[in-house]
Amino acid sequence: MASVLVVEDEPGIRAELIALLTAHGHVVRSAADGFGALREVTQAHLDAIVLDLGLPDLDGADALRMIRGISQVPVVVATARDDDAEIIALLDAGADDYLVKPFSGGQLAARLGAVLRRSAGASGFPAGAPGTATASSSSSSDAPPARITVGGLEIDPRGRVAHLDGAELQLTRREFDLLAYLARYADQVVPKRQILLEVWREPYVDDQTIDVHLSALRRKLGERGARPRYLQTVRGVGIKLVTPR
Ligand code: CA
Repeated sequence: MASVLVVEDEPGIRAELIALLTAHGHVVRSAADGFGALREVTQAHLDAIVLDLGLPDLDGADALRMIRGISQVPVVVATARDDDAEIIALLDAGADDYLVKPFSGGQLAARLGAVLRRSAGASGFPAGAPGTATASSSSSSDAPPARITVGGLEIDPRGRVAHLDGAELQLTRREFDLLAYLARYADQVVPKRQILLEVWREPYVDDQTIDVHLSALRRKLGERGARPRYLQTVRGVGIKLVTPR
């Protein structure tokens, strides 16, 4: 059971979302516009927010930034447009996940459940990948390593900060988890399925979701063109965070 804020201006859709989330055992609050949402964020204890982007008063991305200015509560955005650039901008602005309208109740429940689970474990670190008894230099225990260095990248899983060439990277929670996970297996190809299970911790996410986060991460690492320094895609196999030569 979690306290979830639904932000949606369409009364019919709002009622549907409230009914659905209540049926899943959540305590649901609601707001019909961006400023109403901000009021809730400042006043109520919330475990997660489902944020419609088409609001009458605030652009969705602005609403998201304003929420992020005061709270780290997980936000799942609901967008009407399946537009890569927009979705990347939203993830950059601090969204934890997104749904493209129209979405099913099952999709919403799955995404929200995943966000809540990650949030509950946010102070921890994804557990060691099963069956990867590789010659990794990281410790074999599930405790997060104190610090991981890969070339100019320095990642502190406990402090949840990452630096590239001395400059702090502004990463969303998911981007950080992804980067830290790949860094743990530096110079090894990590299959996307393993990333889904260990970083997303749910089998329902499709590969495209990883790709969207990877492209955002690439951009923040200053990667461009077909010869990335750090994040390499091994076609048909997976992703490799490499130590640049
Ligand atoms: Ca709307």
